[in-house]
Amino acid sequence: MIRSLTFKLRLPGGEDASLLGTMHAYTTAFSESARWGFENRTWNKVENHKATYHVVRNAVPRLPSSLVQGARDCACEALKAVRCKATPVRKPLAALRYNQRVIRVNMIHGIATIASINGRIKATFPVPETYWQYLGWILRSSILSYNWRKRRFYLHVQIERADPEPIQNLRVLGIDRGIVNVAVCSDNTFFNSKRVRSARGKFAHLRRSLQSKGTRSARRRLRKIGGRERRFMADVNHCISKKIVNSESTVFALEDLSKIRVQKRRGPQFNRNLGNWAYSQLEQFLRYKAEALGKQVILVDARYTSQKCSRCGHVYRWNRDGSDFRCRSCGFQLHADLNAARNIAQTGISCLGRLPVNQPNASVVSHWNH
Ligand SMILES: [Zn+2]
Repeated sequence: MIRSLTFKLRLPGGEDASLLGTMHAYTTAFSESARWGFENRTWNKVENHKATYHVVRNAVPRLPSSLVQGARDCACEALKAVRCKATPVRKPLAALRYNQRVIRVNMIHGIATIASINGRIKATFPVPETYWQYLGWILRSSILSYNWRKRRFYLHVQIERADPEPIQNLRVLGIDRGIVNVAVCSDNTFFNSKRVRSARGKFAHLRRSLQSKGTRSARRRLRKIGGRERRFMADVNHCISKKIVNSESTVFALEDLSKIRVQKRRGPQFNRNLGNWAYSQLEQFLRYKAEALGKQVILVDARYTSQKCSRCGHVYRWNRDGSDFRCRSCGFQLHADLNAARNIAQTGISCLGRLPVNQPNASVVSHWNH
């Protein structure tokens, strides 16, 4: 999700002298602060201000005081970066950051008012066509740069998405992806893969018989089957992800399947049966459908999700036996995938802080039969 982006706006010529003079004056102010900071071995902004303000004011009397401060802050940051081991140097026409006090950019009308050594100057610019998608975003910072080859000024305006609505009432849903069940959610929803497996079995059977024929028409039909199979799986994933995001939960926790460990744990059968792409597709679909509803998807560490008891936290390799989970420590019994989903939800919650889990105690299992 994009949070901020920058528009590069080309300013018209005409006020070059004022802006060039401003850049030079800014560099003078910068150099003065940088020199003092280096000589006194400090990047403290307040001390620097006290020591250099009057000197700088006298050297560049027409530079707006906000830019004097900007130059000093910039110099102090540069001093800090080199630990005062050298005097930071600034090119006379280096890009210059303007804060909101010394610049006004009206993106709707294409007008910028920029403070300079000759007072505020007004510049117009064509508003980029793409800006209209971002109406309502907030202007963050503006950087003035000069291209001396083209003898042109540019304004780099950074805009930011207005604070997104904070997700009210965070409810975390853990989702376990597997072979017998495409997905099992910590709220006891099962999406079994019976239909998926039977369809994939048919596809595989068809593929084998066509492969053995080896004729040209058989090869053509093979390609078609590949496409049909993909569309079928995409349809299944659309259905599942839609049902999941429309649940009451607002945060969906999934295992981070990019970790090698998980693949090992699930075994080669996992990859053969449904294909890795099917699982990452489900993740993608969930992600964009959740975003559209202002909800979110988080990935959590997948270690021990199948071995850990979701009630007492006891981790033991033999707690799980196929689809049965029985804790050797507290005796808790549950469907193994559901236990894993609850563990994923708990990990998700600990990622987000202390939040309520969407985990009803009643074992209402809704089977998914498409
Ligand atoms: Zn236990």
